Amino acid sequence: MAAVNLIDVTHATRRYDGLVAVDDASLRIPAGEVRAIIGPNGAGKTTLVGMISGRVVPSSGTITFAGEDITRLPSWSRVRRGIVYTFQVTSIYRNLTCAENVALAAQSSLGGRQKLIAGKSAQCLERVGLSNDAKRLAGVLPYGHQRLLEVAMAMALDPRLLILDEPTQGLAPAEISAFCDLVRGIASSATVLLIEHNLKVVLELAQTITVMDQGRIIAEGSPAEIEAHPAVQRAYLGA
Ligand code: ATP
Repeated sequence: MAAVNLIDVTHATRRYDGLVAVDDASLRIPAGEVRAIIGPNGAGKTTLVGMISGRVVPSSGTITFAGEDITRLPSWSRVRRGIVYTFQVTSIYRNLTCAENVALAAQSSLGGRQKLIAGKSAQCLERVGLSNDAKRLAGVLPYGHQRLLEVAMAMALDPRLLILDEPTQGLAPAEISAFCDLVRGIASSATVLLIEHNLKVVLELAQTITVMDQGRIIAEGSPAEIEAHPAVQRAYLGA
């Protein structure tokens, strides 16, 4: 029997009045893969992953997670199943410390067990390199570090599928390389779906790259295949 894909999007379309944000997209992601979705602004990337996370209801098509049809499930019940999405706009509590932010996320999976929550928070902050900031207010962190805090919060939910939306935005070059190591570490326990504009990061991290343009999936393949694709060369490499 063929292995079940962790995510199976079949003929998904999302319309907004006259505009088709995602147009008949089909996407299969095997468990354990790091998948990147790339494409120009407005290509439909965020809308497509929104349909996977439950933030966006498809106009038509189906979404299956680990063999289960989740097309009509609300976001919170997808989170329970392990689909965790770090938002493009940061969703942290600025007036709480970093440790408190992660503890809040951990609480939803661990209930009221304070010792476990504290341990888990410390572990997740360490994974993203923010241990030294545990007691600082989240709002005073630089933007890029707030994004890392969001990843720590997502990790506290024990994701099976972690969706990262432009995670390297605001990170310095040295931090981007640490971030790539972080994603490789996460990929040992979760499937990762990445929307990312930095092509270097995408080529380095992803096993498979999906290219979108004007709501459609126009190419899919290995980093080498996608790098050589004419549409990608035009859009990213100025060819
Ligand atoms: P970016 O890289 O700029 O984030 P994207 O590839 O993620 O772009 P989407 O945000 O999915 O693209 O948007 C795809 C299209 O759908 C755009 O034309 C956008 O304006 C439109 N769109 C997205 N969400 C809505 C909405 N809630 N209402 C109306 N139009 C929308």
